[in-house]
Amino acid sequence: MKNNPLLKEFDNQYGIPPFEEIKIEHYLPAFKKSIETHKAEIKEIIDNVEKPSFENVLNDMEKSGSDLNKVSRVFYNLLSADSSDDLNKIASEISPILSRHNDEIILNQELFTKIKAIYEHRDNLDSEQRRLTEVIYKEFKSKGSLLDEENRKQLQCFNEELSKLSLKFNQNVLKETNNFNMVIESPSDLEGLPDDLIHIAKEQAIDAGMENKWLFKATRENLYPFLTSSGKRELREQLYKGYLNRGKNSNSENNEELVKRMAKLRKNKANLLGFESHADLALDDTMAENKENVFSLLDKVWKPAIARANEEISDMQKIIQSEGNNFKLEAWDWWHYSEKLRKEKYDFSEAEIRPYLSLENIRLAAFKTAERLFQVSFHKIEDHPKYHEDLEGYEVLDQNNRLIGIFFTDYFARPSKQGGAWMTSYRDQSKNNGEVLPMIINVCNFPKPKEGEPTLLNLEHAITLFHEFGHALHGLLSNVTYPSLSGTSVPRDYVEFPSQMMENWIRSPEVLFEFATHHESGEKIPGELMDKYVASQKFNQGFATTEYLAASYLDLAWHTEKDDVHDIKDFENKLFNKKGLPAEIDSRYESTYFSHIFAGGYSSSYYSYMWSEVLDSSAFEGFEKNGIFNKDLGRKLKEFVYSSGNSKDLMSQFKKFNGSEPNPLRLLKKRGLA
Ligand SMILES: [Zn+2]
Repeated sequence: MKNNPLLKEFDNQYGIPPFEEIKIEHYLPAFKKSIETHKAEIKEIIDNVEKPSFENVLNDMEKSGSDLNKVSRVFYNLLSADSSDDLNKIASEISPILSRHNDEIILNQELFTKIKAIYEHRDNLDSEQRRLTEVIYKEFKSKGSLLDEENRKQLQCFNEELSKLSLKFNQNVLKETNNFNMVIESPSDLEGLPDDLIHIAKEQAIDAGMENKWLFKATRENLYPFLTSSGKRELREQLYKGYLNRGKNSNSENNEELVKRMAKLRKNKANLLGFESHADLALDDTMAENKENVFSLLDKVWKPAIARANEEISDMQKIIQSEGNNFKLEAWDWWHYSEKLRKEKYDFSEAEIRPYLSLENIRLAAFKTAERLFQVSFHKIEDHPKYHEDLEGYEVLDQNNRLIGIFFTDYFARPSKQGGAWMTSYRDQSKNNGEVLPMIINVCNFPKPKEGEPTLLNLEHAITLFHEFGHALHGLLSNVTYPSLSGTSVPRDYVEFPSQMMENWIRSPEVLFEFATHHESGEKIPGELMDKYVASQKFNQGFATTEYLAASYLDLAWHTEKDDVHDIKDFENKLFNKKGLPAEIDSRYESTYFSHIFAGGYSSSYYSYMWSEVLDSSAFEGFEKNGIFNKDLGRKLKEFVYSSGNSKDLMSQFKKFNGSEPNPLRLLKKRGLA
């Protein structure tokens, strides 16, 4: 135990976890030891005979569990970014233990009595302390602190089972994604595919022990470029269906029973806590406040989205016909024909713009945007601990060259990484226990270039980089006292606001014109190409909005449904028929691989992206009118949004920045739907 690096001070210059020293066998003992420490700390708070005060209850709680936090951050970050069977095994073992440990704290009546006493006298506290008291009290309440003993036990059982199931759900999705293989043997079947995708497919085939073949997996990173560029319709269908059928295929990795069980457990849990449905429970502490407000927003956007999607379908059907074909457009044709339509309408293809979007350019654009808006700069750390060679670290300095945080990037796809892109932290900013600087990471799945070649992104990648960077800034610029209110510890429907806000800059012609230079010639992106790019941002929005809304409705359907669901396909079909979802569009996620809601904490909250988009499209209006690097607006944005975490009421903060309430019409306009 003494030599367990997870339990020692991370004593290098920045306190970075000593990744190279951490071995598989260190995790379980470190978890167990740090859980014991946390238990002892909590016991001390409970056993304290002094009159309960903010300091001896809530502040001590905020300080407690720091070892466990440290171990958990390292473990769960690696579980997503650089997983292995060993890590997965530990996760299965430790997740229910952690869930039980958290429940023991949350459901401890003596502790809750103390918290309640402080809550009842919270008017005497300063504003951040009051906010923390309210947040913690509400969290305890929503997790069952007011229940009697028998019901608390029942709740604990639900939680433990749910935590096991959601972990299994995720493992199944990852396995099903890797299990699916579409092998191409004839080079003629690769026609039209971009070089980097062919390269990846070749590498994947070699990894699977196949020579002179190309192997495609059911990842989004393989799927979308393939669907866009392959002219072979039957191969598009094969890969698309491979993707869609994840979680429904084999016996051992099938997610259908799991999904039904989770929905039922969540409903029972909500009932136990006095809510009609899981959605009512989940939305209780959000900016939206209740499901009626959520449906009201989704319904406002649904009709214009469908109307536009139908126009897009008919435009693409015309292309199919004009090429002498007679088939009806299907879901797996969408990307291919929408790319043709894009070329036809905007005379512009993804391939033309990619040489200007090198990773270096886009990352520099992100760093410079932050520098101009928020007076912070990023400086590469040459030598630091790494769990993988792709990890890069940066010092983040303020205008006085004072260190305010550490930022990591881990940008390239690999089989050990979960799909998608995300921000997490190794350390959150806080000041209640000495100054703790944030240590934030962005993980993405950009295709890794061949040795010696530059990484060229497509537009979606560039926007993703800015999006995740926005989350990172929310963590890095955080300037609050208590860790529970730090950075991205905000309700789900607010958390995507700072990230989507950043996307506005890479979507702006000014930023692109300055930073998008050709990776070989160094020439600036041609004005004409850029104009087309800007015009094309409203392109295909019928589809994008519809597939997203369909997934949001699916999420809410699972979590408002009163009866048990027997057949998932039937449940989905009924919902989408009722809504009038065009047959050419599938929900962005189907139930069996909808990790956001069954493994990622977004249950009943998938709508959040759109809710946040109303905020960001409203907030960006000021920059559009007064200049995208307007100093005064940048200062306000930092003060009221990026640095204040959850330390103040979020709607009031928004209005302080914006001067008015968020306006849904701005979202429709941004997407070209109004
Ligand atoms: Zn996000």
